[in-house]
Amino acid sequence: MTSIWWIRRDLRLTDNPALHAALAAGPVIPAFILDPAFSRASPRCKDFLYEGLHALDRDLRTRGSYLVIRSGKPGAVLAQLLTEAKADAIFTEEDFTPYARTRDQEVARNLPLQLIHGQTVHHPNTVLKKDGRPYTVFTSYAMAWKAKGLRGMNLLPAPQKIITPPGIPGGMLPKYRVNPLFPAGEAEALVRLEEFLHRRIYTYAEHRDRMDLDGTSALSPYLRFGMLGLRQAVSAARQAFFEARNEFHTRNAEAWLNELIWREFYIQILYHFPHVRKTAFHPSLANIPWRNDESEFEAWKEGRTGVPIVDAGMRQLREIGWMHNRARMITASYLVKDLLIDWRWGEAWFMENLLDGDPAANNGGWQWTAGTGTDAAPYFRIFNPVLQSTKFDPNGEYIRKWVPELRELDAKDIHAPWEKGIRVKGYPEKPIVERNKDRTLRAYQLAKEEIRT
Ligand SMILES: Cc1cc2nc3c(=O)[nH]c(=O)nc-3n(C[C@H](O)[C@H](O)[C@H](O)COP(=O)(O)OP(=O)(O)OC[C@H]3O[C@@H](n4cnc5c(N)ncnc54)[C@H](O)[C@@H]3O)c2cc1C
Repeated sequence: MTSIWWIRRDLRLTDNPALHAALAAGPVIPAFILDPAFSRASPRCKDFLYEGLHALDRDLRTRGSYLVIRSGKPGAVLAQLLTEAKADAIFTEEDFTPYARTRDQEVARNLPLQLIHGQTVHHPNTVLKKDGRPYTVFTSYAMAWKAKGLRGMNLLPAPQKIITPPGIPGGMLPKYRVNPLFPAGEAEALVRLEEFLHRRIYTYAEHRDRMDLDGTSALSPYLRFGMLGLRQAVSAARQAFFEARNEFHTRNAEAWLNELIWREFYIQILYHFPHVRKTAFHPSLANIPWRNDESEFEAWKEGRTGVPIVDAGMRQLREIGWMHNRARMITASYLVKDLLIDWRWGEAWFMENLLDGDPAANNGGWQWTAGTGTDAAPYFRIFNPVLQSTKFDPNGEYIRKWVPELRELDAKDIHAPWEKGIRVKGYPEKPIVERNKDRTLRAYQLAKEEIRT
């Protein structure tokens, strides 16, 4: 039986259960559909995807296969491809976002679609409380996730040979611009994983919050497009855990594993509570009276708020399409709590600009910061960006890198130059707003009162 392997967020050959299921049935046509729904993604994100498709095509060709590219609405494209290729089935990795689920339900109504689990370690329907309801608190979820064990998780090797019927027409692979900081593809993802496991994982917990250090894996864009599978990353974390030479190493490897579980936690939150895509997880915080000042939003996007650490994070995002996690928390908190701008505006801007922009992790991160989410920081906890900056970029290196106007300032002055009356040409004299904790708390309180009345 010939089948189509419909590739979406799994641009890899190693540990790909959907590909394996298709191969077990017979010859396979690897197909990627350029869905008009993806056309809103940023040019940088498209470049990353397109480069990943080129890499996948190369990997397929070394195994006797090739990638078929088609454009259009998936249902119609797949129906045509099935007829043309006289194929009998479509195998694809199950994707848990609301958009993907609706799309797949529609396709499955008319076509022989088989959804294969592979995007997460545990399916969102399998890590549940005793009463069958989903977890909404990370620590309990992580405990249940770990208790399920990983024994059954044997990684599938990349197939040596893939038989594909010759001559199936497809479009040209789209052109792309190379991003030297994040070259796309499975081979690159595996090299980066190896490199991270070799050493940095064992100092992860110590360094992960330092914005001036390369303390994290920077694997998120590869995980987003499945150039690396989450199961592979978890398996690597587990391996590092077993190979740890002392307790310090063990603690650090476990800290990285926990972050991977956060990823899976947010995937299941979006799966079980799709309303979070549009509104607050907690109904009591759905109607915060935001200020939504457009010019302040522009200043935030451009990295000219006058708060150096916020501007550094926002410029890192604009320039390379990635931002350090601590900087994401600081910039998001500044937008929501200090500028009182709707977290959904920030969520959309991040989604548009991040190479790793992921509906579940991004929404989870924003709702956590805004205090509206499942396991969120309490809404009355408001980050002080200057204290954060002093603590997690102690010498100001991260700021100097992304805000070159401030390069000459020393570590004492760089976090809050306005407090010392220091003026720097080309940089705002003072922050665009004076921080006002009471104003923030009032807005959140009003939302809560509205729900009670
Ligand atoms: C406001 C906000 C928005 C975010 N948006 C995204 C997003 O769109 N896509 C995204 O992948 N992550 C997002 N994150 C989570 C986190 O910032 C990134 O996953 C992380 O910075 C990626 O860097 P890394 O690969 O070096 O991570 P590492 O620290 O090396 O962690 C390894 C992997 O674990 C996962 N992970 C780590 N932290 C988290 C987390 N808090 N939530 C979910 N998964 C996590 C990621 O897949 C990451 O690649 C967001 C966080 C915040 C606060």
